[in-house]
Amino acid sequence: MKSKQQQLFEPPEELSAWEVAAEQDRTVAEVVFNRPLETPYSYAVPEALRELITPGQRVKAPFGRGNRHIAGFCVNVRQAAETDRRLKEIESVLDREPLVDSQMLELTRWIADRYLCGWGQVLQSVIPAGVKKKAGTRLITQLSLAENAVALIGEKKLPAKQQAVVDALTQANQPMRIEELTAAANCGTGPIQSLRTKNIVIAHRERTNNFAGDFGDVEKIDDLTLNEDQQNALASIVAPLQSGEHQTLLLHGVTGSGKTEVYIQAIREVVSYGRQAIVLVPEISLTPQTIRRFRSRFDSVAVLHSHMTDSERHWHWQQIARGAIQVIVGARSAVFAPTPQLGLIVIDEEHETTFKQDSTPRYHAREVARKRAMLAKIPLVLGTATPTLESWWRAKQKLDTLVSMPRRVQTLPLPPVTIVDTRNDPRIRKGGAIGRVLHNTIGQALADNGQIILFLNLRGFSPTVWCISCGEGIKCPECDVTLNWHKDRGEVVCHLCDHSAPPPRQCPVCESVGVRYFGIGTQKLEQEVSSLFRNAKVLRMDSDSMRKPGSHDEALTAFRAGEVNVLLGTQMIAKGLDFPNVTLVGVIDADTILHQPDLRATERTFQLLAQVSGRTGRSERGGRVLVQTSSPAEPAVIHASNHDYISFAQEELQHRRDGLAPPFSHLARVIFRGEKDHEVRTYAREFADAIRAITKELKIPVRVLGPAPAPIARVRAHYRYHLQMSAVEIGVLQSLWRLAVPKLPKTSNVEFAVDVDPVNMR
Ligand code: ADP
Ligand code: ZN
Ligand code: ZN
Repeated sequence: MKSKQQQLFEPPEELSAWEVAAEQDRTVAEVVFNRPLETPYSYAVPEALRELITPGQRVKAPFGRGNRHIAGFCVNVRQAAETDRRLKEIESVLDREPLVDSQMLELTRWIADRYLCGWGQVLQSVIPAGVKKKAGTRLITQLSLAENAVALIGEKKLPAKQQAVVDALTQANQPMRIEELTAAANCGTGPIQSLRTKNIVIAHRERTNNFAGDFGDVEKIDDLTLNEDQQNALASIVAPLQSGEHQTLLLHGVTGSGKTEVYIQAIREVVSYGRQAIVLVPEISLTPQTIRRFRSRFDSVAVLHSHMTDSERHWHWQQIARGAIQVIVGARSAVFAPTPQLGLIVIDEEHETTFKQDSTPRYHAREVARKRAMLAKIPLVLGTATPTLESWWRAKQKLDTLVSMPRRVQTLPLPPVTIVDTRNDPRIRKGGAIGRVLHNTIGQALADNGQIILFLNLRGFSPTVWCISCGEGIKCPECDVTLNWHKDRGEVVCHLCDHSAPPPRQCPVCESVGVRYFGIGTQKLEQEVSSLFRNAKVLRMDSDSMRKPGSHDEALTAFRAGEVNVLLGTQMIAKGLDFPNVTLVGVIDADTILHQPDLRATERTFQLLAQVSGRTGRSERGGRVLVQTSSPAEPAVIHASNHDYISFAQEELQHRRDGLAPPFSHLARVIFRGEKDHEVRTYAREFADAIRAITKELKIPVRVLGPAPAPIARVRAHYRYHLQMSAVEIGVLQSLWRLAVPKLPKTSNVEFAVDVDPVNMR
């Protein structure tokens, strides 16, 4: 409960305008709400709010049929026009300061257009909840002397207590809280109130942080001396930086070519101008190793990751907004960091799919970064050993600048890669994970005291459960995928919805008793390695074994210290790790990604093999890579084994061109979902018919494919269908969508979402 005194001194934070007559109002605010695809709504701004309202603030305004007051974002303030008649009024302004500046408003509007969603939805999503709630702060009332206090007092003699208050404030020479002031003047609140009425003492409210974060003090080290390739790369980034123009640079550097050192020294330049840099990395790379690397070079580095509390996030946002941070390192959403004077954006591992958001707004951080860099007239650096074909194609056409670093630092060679055909391997045919050749090679590496990384991107013990009698895979009751056997938990688990149950005794289809587990997951691999190499210390890293916060770092520290001989796991170990003592990398099965129904399956296979290979050969000890596959003639596998990105890209681009697939076209995928199969199917058809009618009538050059059941046709008891639209120009898809949406049939039982430039085709 607030005391009466406090209430007296507190002007309301929400500045209500209920008293104001609006008839002659001439100022209009345009407001967007958290709704799909809508143009801004115009509202009259009452007199009392006119001085307070700014674009970028949230406001409350009546909305919809019931005229409920809901929060939206003010995106523009303008003079009323003839057409503005009988406008409803803004009710209140929710923020004292704008939450986003004009450039961020423009960026978010661009995202709404580009990804076919509402501007309000974008703003709602890019401003963290903790910032909107002002988490970790509270309002306090500060008292100070009015500027004209001396004149107001004049010759009069104040009562002693009041004089004591004035003296205390004069002496403090800064605003004081009520408790501080009553203590200093040794009085109650009465004299303060009297001075307030005479306007000698002024009250104002301020927000202060309860929460104080820190940036982890790390010992600073000097920059390294760059080699020639690195110097060239740095010069290419610094040139646009100095001339103040936008340029996107694709930094194509093999694993271990020293890209990070180039980013660091480019940022050094940015910081020397008093500006800030944003470095986007995949969430999985936000390891203490990465963080230490930046913190050991710069004074203030903020790290934004997904496990922050609201208070932490808000505090970081504030520090960034006031320019106190030099470098922001973070996952996808850090592209929206409110830096006052952004100088450079870097995206490391540009090819990672996690840069695409999987819920509305379904933006790709690379495209958002490109737009932001264009608006700010600064360079954007995309770094990777395996560029996406989208980025490679842009660079090939000279739309972006290609910078190559084809060698590892200190002239370490890239590791030799051996492809092992497993089709006739006796061990594998008997259901083993490790074939004859890999078995021998692991034995040698262990004998030489080398460390080993084994990669398999299937977790669990066995990825499928089969009925012995009818041969059907046993599926999750809610999803269209077979269950995975997790032996350690004694349960079968659905990897889509996390449904888990004791292993079924009976087949749900034919009802006969007896099931079999088939295939190899990381748990089974761990068991096999441990039994083959009894003296080796084996550590498994996957999302099951790494549930506890911090376990990831603990595991890597143990591996670095040499306490572990064999590190095995999923994607988690494929990327970014830099361990000099790793002399062997084994890929258990290169085919797992290759056979997925996805237009990027070969591209992903190449990327993964190249990244995994990058984990070895990082010291004079050298290293080698062994890839087990049953498709040894697959070009992605062969090119990866030759470390030949350029040939791979050339061939793959040709295929894409032939099929008019991205990057030679843009896709928009509409996903429908609902509880009843026939309802979803019928609606998807009507939807597709409506779209086709419009494209035909207006001769819009869009290919429409489907609808068809989605590759995963059922998830969490919802049936899924999808429709794909493709066009050479993205603008065509945008106009089609805007034309079509108002004319589409309506339904309440089926939801749909549109994904522009999808990277996930499930
Ligand atoms: P990438 O990001 O291209 O995979 P890194 O930046 O991680 O490569 O560099 C690989 C290793 O080489 C790191 O241990 C890094 O400290 C080291 N390194 C980078 N540049 C230099 C250099 N100019 N001189 C010496 N060592 C370097
Ligand atoms: Zn059966
Ligand atoms: Zn499921």
